[in-house]
Amino acid sequence: MMKQYFCDELNNVLSCFHDRIMSCCSGQIGPIYYEGYRGQKIDWDNFKQIKPNAFSLLNDENIDKSPCKGCFFLRERKPEDVISPTFKFLNISHWTHCNCGCIYCARMSHSKGQITYKSAKSEYYDMIPLLKQLYKHDLLDRKNLIVNIQGGDISVLKEFEPMVKEFLKNGAFKFYILSNNIKYQPIIEKLLKKGIVDFTTSLDCATPEVYYKLKRVDKFKDSVENLKRYTKVNAGFGITVKYIVIEHINDNIEEITKFVNLMSDINVKTIEFMIDNKYVIFANLDETPLPSHYKDLYLHMKNLCEEKGINLILWSKTEYVINKYMLNTDD
Ligand code: SF4
Ligand code: SF4
Repeated sequence: MMKQYFCDELNNVLSCFHDRIMSCCSGQIGPIYYEGYRGQKIDWDNFKQIKPNAFSLLNDENIDKSPCKGCFFLRERKPEDVISPTFKFLNISHWTHCNCGCIYCARMSHSKGQITYKSAKSEYYDMIPLLKQLYKHDLLDRKNLIVNIQGGDISVLKEFEPMVKEFLKNGAFKFYILSNNIKYQPIIEKLLKKGIVDFTTSLDCATPEVYYKLKRVDKFKDSVENLKRYTKVNAGFGITVKYIVIEHINDNIEEITKFVNLMSDINVKTIEFMIDNKYVIFANLDETPLPSHYKDLYLHMKNLCEEKGINLILWSKTEYVINKYMLNTDD
């Protein structure tokens, strides 16, 4: 019998990126809803047809014609898998402006490393008109919708607060918001109070000097002060602070110790340990091994977090690399 395949991302996710509206952010370019979107009028009948059409190719006979061919998210379709008319997960990353310049920024090629100091509109399109249309055409699951806002940075996105209010007005279940946290956002405080946000920021260090080397702006104090204000709202719950290890800058035991102590002092409950994309995504670790001291850094952070009662989490790709290349527990 001909095998049918299914992808939960395709069924549930809509991603509004700066250059296109597409199905997923899997790393593979799956079905595209609108290439080169710049706020044009959308043919919504055509838009609604893209998901079922993409599913119609997910079988042995047609998979060669599908952009999903070879994606590791594909699995065999079960009888209970139903194609949903709505999306439950909306990724928003439709601008690249940012008020800092992290040396590891994945969007550097789009922002050209420019630092934007004042609030600005997206260089590509406004999200609110698109959002209104998506709700109007019943494409978003108002009850269960999870909104993931990334950037650029929300600190300089003019429509950030009105956009969140638009979601609250029309229906959303939860927000994931990523920010450098250079600007305090009252709307985030409101979401924390309601318990409907997971707010993540990358501080990556515990001193202004290291912060400047990593982010190219002198905003360490602002970030820490804002963090202190947020952690007071909900006893630190709903907040994650990342430590992205960057070789020759913050890859040392001293900075990690100071960082975990600082997080403990300001009542951060969750830390995420990450290894720079240079190793996790772009290098072939079988040929370019991870620096050997990374294992010590990870274990040191893990032990300190245990001591301080802080929850240490790992992004899936970092976890895979740690298990396979540092701890040798995954073949
Ligand atoms: S199969 Fe992969 S490429 Fe296709 S929609 Fe799913 S996650 Fe995206
Ligand atoms: S805060 Fe984010 S968008 Fe801004 S420079 Fe850093 S990584 Fe890039």
